[in-house]
Amino acid sequence: MSDTVVESQMAILRSRPELERREADQLSALAVLSRDAVHVHGPDVDPAPSTRTYFQRDWNRVMHSEAFRKLEYKTQVFPFGEGLDVTRTRLTHTLEVSQIAQAICVALGLNDDLVRAIALAHDLGHPPFGHSGEDVLRELAGFNHNAHGLRIVTELERRYPFPGLNLPTVVLAGMGKHDAAFRILGECAYFRDQGPTLESQVASLADVIAYRSHDIEDALNSGILTKDDFREAGLDLWDELEAHVADLPEEIRTAQITRTLIDLFISDALTEMQQRLSHTGTSTAAEVRAAREPLVRFSDEFERKQSRLGEFLSETFYKHYKIMRMTDKGQRVIRALIGAYQDNPRLLPPDVQVHYEEAEDRNAVLADVIAGMTDRYAVMEYTRLFDPEVRV
Ligand code: MG
Repeated sequence: MSDTVVESQMAILRSRPELERREADQLSALAVLSRDAVHVHGPDVDPAPSTRTYFQRDWNRVMHSEAFRKLEYKTQVFPFGEGLDVTRTRLTHTLEVSQIAQAICVALGLNDDLVRAIALAHDLGHPPFGHSGEDVLRELAGFNHNAHGLRIVTELERRYPFPGLNLPTVVLAGMGKHDAAFRILGECAYFRDQGPTLESQVASLADVIAYRSHDIEDALNSGILTKDDFREAGLDLWDELEAHVADLPEEIRTAQITRTLIDLFISDALTEMQQRLSHTGTSTAAEVRAAREPLVRFSDEFERKQSRLGEFLSETFYKHYKIMRMTDKGQRVIRALIGAYQDNPRLLPPDVQVHYEEAEDRNAVLADVIAGMTDRYAVMEYTRLFDPEVRV
């Protein structure tokens, strides 16, 4: 190949510095730029990307992690189905959070690659059977899914010549999370006395938007709740949603209610955010991080309406007897596995056994072992240990 051909091919490729310049030109002054990111390991350990920005590489790495793939078989609300394949899993929930967060960031000129990295990683630390599984592991070893998620991406994932994924501090802080961000300011090593970025606050809000809207759709599609249940509860947000879809054919109304709710959430958040930014005179990413109150949230009026909807779901959906049967069964599986391993650690795979015997806190080792399981794997392991008809 001649030198000129090689040169012209080179000219087609966009180098990282070129992509970083475009990012700086195109994004708002409120956005975090990938060239400012501080990663755990420097380029001597982990060479810089050549044709992607750092944040693009970061979300690519989250997507290629083992923990991300396991989200497919982890619970959102339904660990044991109801025979439905359309209810959310933690993977589809995560993808919806990422989509909603990106849409908000694009509308505001924020860094959508950064928000995607945070959103795709935000639920990596969940054990099998969701929050009910977490309750059992918390009793066992003080387990917390946010802290575990951080350990996954900084320590437990082994795909590179260094531990973890080498994500930047702004992603780790975004994962360390969430609504708690202002409360734990200063306690979280990754904040370094700075408040959360707007991208981090957007990811957190997108989580609420995603689960609130998809839980309504899943509750209706599973038949656990009916539209009459919502009507009879006298929820003004529900009445508003039904008014929006009143002229549409019945078979698309549930989906349109979900869609409309997401739209209402996003437009309220965008309006409120603009007002907060202008009231506080916040116009740069550094000012966002110096702020001591959230800039991304719903208006008081909308927050009141959506909380009432949330309370209704807590009482009727999450505590429905069918859901209770599922979460209780999940906890039973986890407790049985813990008991079996504690009674006879030789049931554990050999490498884990060595680790377990040597550990100061053996329960913490068991919590790690269980947290690394999907719902599906935990049930399989349960049958291998307890069902005489199933091979070990
Ligand atoms: Mg979530």
